[in-house]
Amino acid sequence: MKIIASLALSLFSLCAVASAGYQPRFDFRLYKKEATNTAPTILIIGGIQGDEPGGFNAAALLATQYKITKGNLWVVPNLNFESIIKRSRGIHGDMNRKFSHLDRNDPEYELVQKIKAIIQDEQIDIVLNLHDGSGFYREKYVDRLHGPQRWGQSIIIDQEKIETHRYGELMALAKQVRETVNAVIDNEESRYRVRNTRTREGDTEMEKTLTYFSIRNQKPAFGLEVSKEYLTHERVYYHLLLVESFMSKLGIEFERSFTLQKASVKDMIDNNVRLSINDRKIYLDVANARRRLGYVPLEKSAPLDVDSDSPLLAVINDRNGYRVRYGNRHVTWLHPQFFEYDSSLEQVRIEVDGHQKTIELGSMVEVKDSFFVAPVPGYRANIIGFKKAGLRNESGVLIRRADIASRFSVDRQARLFRLEFYKDKKYCGMLLLNFGRKKPARLSSLSDYANIPMP
Ligand SMILES: [Zn+2]
Repeated sequence: MKIIASLALSLFSLCAVASAGYQPRFDFRLYKKEATNTAPTILIIGGIQGDEPGGFNAAALLATQYKITKGNLWVVPNLNFESIIKRSRGIHGDMNRKFSHLDRNDPEYELVQKIKAIIQDEQIDIVLNLHDGSGFYREKYVDRLHGPQRWGQSIIIDQEKIETHRYGELMALAKQVRETVNAVIDNEESRYRVRNTRTREGDTEMEKTLTYFSIRNQKPAFGLEVSKEYLTHERVYYHLLLVESFMSKLGIEFERSFTLQKASVKDMIDNNVRLSINDRKIYLDVANARRRLGYVPLEKSAPLDVDSDSPLLAVINDRNGYRVRYGNRHVTWLHPQFFEYDSSLEQVRIEVDGHQKTIELGSMVEVKDSFFVAPVPGYRANIIGFKKAGLRNESGVLIRRADIASRFSVDRQARLFRLEFYKDKKYCGMLLLNFGRKKPARLSSLSDYANIPMP
């Protein structure tokens, strides 16, 4: 089985985000997850509006936690990235009204041109645009939250069908998907409806949208709406049900690194948000980080080079430090301490719970009870939160969790701690010590996880 996640194309979004005095440019990522050239390709778009976390979190999971085994999935999880991290529907106006006419001077002109080109790529067979909508769509007015004035829990099409060689029967396909997902949705309120906006017949607002742009370019397109009445992880769950159903109708096969249940979806979006700074000189899991992390060793007079597996993570220059955002959430604030860097130490030897290990700097180490850093002549180890009178170099000492002050942890549960290495006054790198946190899900260990296919 082959997995191609063309990250090379897409990692540009974070690299340029933060450095002193630099105005960040918020580009989106494109993940191409390709198993075969012949089978169909679905393009998933999340985050066209920045305040719809159900859509962009679902797309981010599709981008990072799914392995496509037949067919192809292209995913843009963070289309309006600047609005996502600033928690705004549209920091420069509603991007989903910029697809019929757009002034060249619009700040989002380039982004819109770029996503238009991706939609028009000849490989794309259908486009799914993921939204969080208000209330619950119903054909007839029921009450304030349920009626034709609402959008939640609906599959949106612009017209019954389009002239195209494949998948042009929009209504028929939307109804098939509706039947499949409704079969697994227990409560009546959450069940899906299909809504035809009949855009061509004079809906001037819908004419400006991304899906109608697709339709005009002979690309079948669907708007998927989850209700904003639900919590984020519930919205993500419904989005994934819909997307997986579309995939199965088109014959696209996949595996994912978690089970499709609300609790495991919540676990996936709330945990394991890795942040790497300056080529892993600093390596943190910031998902449950404290509001503020002090003494973060940054490099003197050098730009900050930030990287993350998550397309929803951004680091923003903020007064004398850096704000870390994950989607709509503020995760932490990094207060830096500036050092010269030294790169002569790549790995260290540590005894973890009685077992000898050689570990690369810039990685996480699982510790149950105790650890012991083997001394390296010329280098000094410093466990943030550990103090012993008269001891400057903390290698060569057996250290237990109880020896480290909880308030110095990276995370709020006091399980993650920093072990840093220095050569004289220069900073060499760190390890993230993990006392009893769950192992993160990884694509490489897919077989460890149950894969529950769609019924
Ligand atoms: Zn929306």
